[in-house]
Amino acid sequence: MLVAGGGPAGCTTAAAMAQLGLRTLLADAGQDRRKQLAGELLHPIGVEELTAFGFSEVLRSGGAPIIGFAVVDGEKTALLPYAPGNRGLGIEHHALVTPLLDVLEKRGDVEVRRRSRVALVSDGPDGVEVTLSREGQSERVRTRMLVAADGRASPLRRSLGIAEQHVRLSTMIGVMVEASALPHAGRGHLFIGGPAPVLAYPISDSQARVMVDLPLGSSPERVRTEQEILSGVPEPLRQAILVALQREAPLVASNDTRIMDQVYKGHVVLVGDAAGCCHPLSASGMASAVRDARVLHRVMAEASNDVPRALAAYARARRPANRTRIALASSLYEAFSSDAGEMAALRSGLFRYWERSPTGLRISMSLLSTRETRMSVMAREYARVVAHGLLALGAGGVRAVQGPRRAMHAGALLVASALPHLRTAMAGVVEDRILALPAPHVPAADEPLAPSRASASRS
Ligand SMILES: Cc1cc2nc3c(=O)[nH]c(=O)nc-3n(C[C@H](O)[C@H](O)[C@H](O)COP(=O)(O)OP(=O)(O)OC[C@H]3O[C@@H](n4cnc5c(N)ncnc54)[C@H](O)[C@@H]3O)c2cc1C
Repeated sequence: MLVAGGGPAGCTTAAAMAQLGLRTLLADAGQDRRKQLAGELLHPIGVEELTAFGFSEVLRSGGAPIIGFAVVDGEKTALLPYAPGNRGLGIEHHALVTPLLDVLEKRGDVEVRRRSRVALVSDGPDGVEVTLSREGQSERVRTRMLVAADGRASPLRRSLGIAEQHVRLSTMIGVMVEASALPHAGRGHLFIGGPAPVLAYPISDSQARVMVDLPLGSSPERVRTEQEILSGVPEPLRQAILVALQREAPLVASNDTRIMDQVYKGHVVLVGDAAGCCHPLSASGMASAVRDARVLHRVMAEASNDVPRALAAYARARRPANRTRIALASSLYEAFSSDAGEMAALRSGLFRYWERSPTGLRISMSLLSTRETRMSVMAREYARVVAHGLLALGAGGVRAVQGPRRAMHAGALLVASALPHLRTAMAGVVEDRILALPAPHVPAADEPLAPSRASASRS
């Protein structure tokens, strides 16, 4: 097996393949993760999978335990808990990801090639041919299966010609502040009272990362010059962000949604961000990446390492969780970044629902953290929030929408805006049901074809 990419997806997939006893080589092009604004909050499911794949020493090496999320909208706060006993981890991106490669190298069951770039040459019936390039030298390698874990821009995916739906959403800037500036210790924070969400979470005992979502292509300077941008962030955090921006150049990243037409082609399979990504407000990218490794591990074991069969099963198995995750992040991002009256009503509906339902708080956290992956649950919760939004409008409880006429108008728009999300969700529910049916039998490469009725009756 050859794994291209040494991020969370590549390292866990390489560990998973090695656990199956497969000879595995991981090549990573290498990037300075200290300069990268990327995943730093790992949900409990990610912690559990990294532990199961043998990376527990990385998880113990630092960071801060996370017990759930706090969603803050002005004076209203909802505390969303992980399930009892579950713990996530907030940790600086490079402190989590760089040691994953070190662990693989130290263990010795995966051959690690650093600063090596993989390029596809050809894919034939018996496997894939690639070039491995490093410092001007290159060599050809043949492999039974190539795992493209090369990130969201995935050069390998592009060279396969796999089509994608790509929506560029926004620009994110990130700074470091003191963890004590966060209102709720040990929680990921979503501040949604401003023009777009601000995310924050502790990444050590003393430090927290804050990420501010800005319109595409904005300069970080806007945060200092446009007061409105931090209007949803309470003091003293607001002041801490402004001080940090004076002290240091922020890290910058773009936020995108990418949905792939296929997650495998021939003997090449996409995992992690290469297979799809969404806005990071649910902090689900790394949990999803390690889940891909788990799914690939399972299907390879079940298909006795028959690559075409395993990859068809992988595509079926990973689809429901990823579709739910991306649909949830997209609908929440729309709700949290729009100043339209109907979206204000949806936000009021969320808080109204959470105030009345401790179970709702728990299920929302479960969906955000990808523990709950069923589209039917997301559709049900979304419909409940819309209903609460309509009730809030009816009771005059949406500050941005005053007067019965405007409330009726916003109510109609809220229902209309919910329909596409509910339609996607319902299509997902139907698809989940179909995917839950037993998989059609795909014959193994060396399995004799069953005789057709005609040939059977002839013989
Ligand atoms: C602003 C922001 C905040 C985020 N916050 C969170 C969060 O809090 N929690 C969370 O879970 N997720 C978060 N994410 C998402 C998370 O960072 C990604 O989901 C995760 O890093 C994906 O891991 P990956 O291994 O698929 O890809 P990457 O981490 O991108 O790794 C890809 C690797 O492939 C290598 N590579 C590229 N091309 C080649 C090649 N041809 N050959 C060999 N190697 C190659 C690269 O050098 C790199 O090392 C965030 C993302 C952004 C943008």
